[in-house]
Amino acid sequence: MHRVFLWVIDLHSAAPMTPFSNAATIRIRGLVQGVGFRPHVWHCARALHLIGTVQNDGDGVLIEVWSASASALDQFCAALQRDCPPLAQITAIERRRLNHPPPASLTDFHIIASAATAVHTGIIPDIATCAACRADLTDPANRRYRYAFTNCTHCGPRFSIITALPYDRVQTSMAAFPLCPTCAAEYADPADRRFHAQPNACPSCGPQLTLTHPDGSAVALLDGDVIATTRQLLRDGGIVAVQGIGGFHLACDAAHVAAVARLRLRKGRDAKPFALMAADLTTIRRYCAVSESEAQLLTSPAAPIVLLDRLPPCQITGDDLAAAVAPGQDSLGFMLPYSPLHWLLLTDQPRPLVMTSGNRSAEPQVTEHADAYQQLGGIADALLLHNRGIVNRVDDSVARVLLGKTHMLRRARGYAPAPLYLPDDCVTNTTVLALGAELKSTFCFVTGNRALLSPHLGDLDNPRTFAEYQRMIAAYQRLFALEPAVIAVDLHPDYRATQYGRDWAARAELPLIFVQHHHAHLAAVLAEHGWSRHGGKVLGWALDGLGYGADGTLWGAELLLCDYCHAERVAHLKAVALPGGDRAATQPWRNLLAQLDAAGVWSTAVARWSNVPIMQLLLAQPVDLLRQMIAQQINSPRSSSAGRLFDAVAAALLPEYAMQLNYDGQAAQALEMLARPQLAAAGDGYCFEITTDAMEQQVLEPAPIWAELFADLIAGVAPALIAARFHTGLARALVDSAQQQAARFGVTTLALAGGVLQNRSLLVQITQRAEAAGLRVLTAQQVPCHDGGIALGQAVVAGQRYVSGGKVGAGRAM
Ligand SMILES: [Zn+2]
Ligand SMILES: [Zn+2]
Repeated sequence: MHRVFLWVIDLHSAAPMTPFSNAATIRIRGLVQGVGFRPHVWHCARALHLIGTVQNDGDGVLIEVWSASASALDQFCAALQRDCPPLAQITAIERRRLNHPPPASLTDFHIIASAATAVHTGIIPDIATCAACRADLTDPANRRYRYAFTNCTHCGPRFSIITALPYDRVQTSMAAFPLCPTCAAEYADPADRRFHAQPNACPSCGPQLTLTHPDGSAVALLDGDVIATTRQLLRDGGIVAVQGIGGFHLACDAAHVAAVARLRLRKGRDAKPFALMAADLTTIRRYCAVSESEAQLLTSPAAPIVLLDRLPPCQITGDDLAAAVAPGQDSLGFMLPYSPLHWLLLTDQPRPLVMTSGNRSAEPQVTEHADAYQQLGGIADALLLHNRGIVNRVDDSVARVLLGKTHMLRRARGYAPAPLYLPDDCVTNTTVLALGAELKSTFCFVTGNRALLSPHLGDLDNPRTFAEYQRMIAAYQRLFALEPAVIAVDLHPDYRATQYGRDWAARAELPLIFVQHHHAHLAAVLAEHGWSRHGGKVLGWALDGLGYGADGTLWGAELLLCDYCHAERVAHLKAVALPGGDRAATQPWRNLLAQLDAAGVWSTAVARWSNVPIMQLLLAQPVDLLRQMIAQQINSPRSSSAGRLFDAVAAALLPEYAMQLNYDGQAAQALEMLARPQLAAAGDGYCFEITTDAMEQQVLEPAPIWAELFADLIAGVAPALIAARFHTGLARALVDSAQQQAARFGVTTLALAGGVLQNRSLLVQITQRAEAAGLRVLTAQQVPCHDGGIALGQAVVAGQRYVSGGKVGAGRAM
């Protein structure tokens, strides 16, 4: 997942040989705390009969070691890397000769207490239950048999329970649970799997479960067993709010039609698909095709939700899922149990559970009991609670595998707050805080060689989400000891994140750097691929809904010639009006009207295409008024948005989505699903015209596609094939333009980013065509292609501009 830099600095001083010349201090950097690294060092040292010490400090792990032979020291360093614990990520091993003898008291190798120094080390993410702990859970002879908080050094909660560094039990929400003697012995024994496992616990000393009614009263338990009672409730069609690792879920039996319908109704969520959790891969394979790489992703320590292609209903064996789980979707989001509590709920359970985030629509996921009662009490029939506090909220991550590679769609649990490493020549001494965009919001700190991208936080237009966003920024500052010296924001003056950053910069008298939205999208892709600061320029198509352009107009399909510091717009989709402003984003018919109007075919449409169903729908709207508004530029800003073009085509082919969307991207998603089976039959697709404007920018003109598209509709061509011809034609135009600009500027790399590229048919077609044309293609993988990746791009761009521009005046914009 993360790029690892590994180097060994062997700094031999010219010191004379002494009896203790085979001695060294060894500094290990990376994600090496809370992952069993010190016991690993201890094992390696003992095996080689070395004496010395190992400790955690603010820079990672520090070892002092003395040996009778130089070769034993070399073997020691090799073993440290070779047998590294599964969750550790070493970024550097630095070895320096030690010229003093060991203290007389030191006769063996010891682990010593953490030193509280400045924090430069990482925090690892929350990790799914390991196989050894699962075995403990299911072994009736084990003292942790069916214990819902079983964990060890190789698994369990981390980021979600931590309040401060260094990572020690007293600085986590486990501080409230003193270890019993047996657990304390495990904790103190370097040979034990639970040595220094900070959340270590057992049924006699650790957190406990309770099951309550929404009014707070206890649910009568079957045989005194919370888990058995919860399972029975779920089987009977109940909805249970389950307190998990990073927040609450709402759970119900996914095959129980009435339960799923009730959950949808109570949650106020009309159509957006629910995530599912299944006991094992075998269960998932009853509903979805699962490739080897998808199986690996599902069973990885991060255990994300993986979007999988649904099997046709005729191939499904056993209980089918309620249709309301994912209405009209040809894929499902599945995850495997990732905490012992989930394992206990799912074990031997043949049917998957709906596991949707526990919140009211558009609100952040609930993490506290009081909020759970208040917000989820009206949705759930019962609440399954525990008393281990959730300190940092972390939603489930969502990913999918495309062209053999993992693409993150929501980066949170299991990934954040692990750092992404910057290209070597992009490392600066300046700490940058980038505040991201408005929707699917994240923020990002860049410090040294690390970019710390926050977990997915949600849409900042919701006040609770915005409060959560500010709280999480403060948590990152505290946990990583960060004080920003530069603030980066989007150009959009109305984004809450932009206003927040402006206020911060003014208050703290810090430089404020504005980064154009699509430039930030592309810079994020460059950064995750390790693109060098001196790597030269690339071309990049950024395709999304809307972003504030460098010229003050709304952009959304932009070919930029860029590096980290600069971006120049060299091609774009033709700008078309958004009649009604914001309403054009949720009512696709408005975009279709604007497209037909801009293409100059509206009167043809009225005269000749009026028997097409969408035209009947359009003509029932106040189209004359809207066309006047467009002509007079009243509440009809123009935009080169790719998202709105997709909405217009979707409105033409899928009139059921034309009037009002339930969620962002719904029509575009439906259009892609329609197109997918016909892509191979689409030939070259519809023809976009490529022209050049007065600014010498190429303009991709969609006007010609409308006559072709309506002619096909009238001729009775299947809407699926029409949708495929649109996708193919657009991909061809985008690549043709990129290819021409690549030749013009002598560039060979094409980056792809923006929320519209969640459309995998489009992404795959652009990638394959561009590669066939000899371009190297870079896509968003570790970081989402949508606005969740913007903050990383902003941070890197701002850091590089700040370094090249020198220091600027306090509060001054760059
Ligand atoms: Zn474990
Ligand atoms: Zn215990």
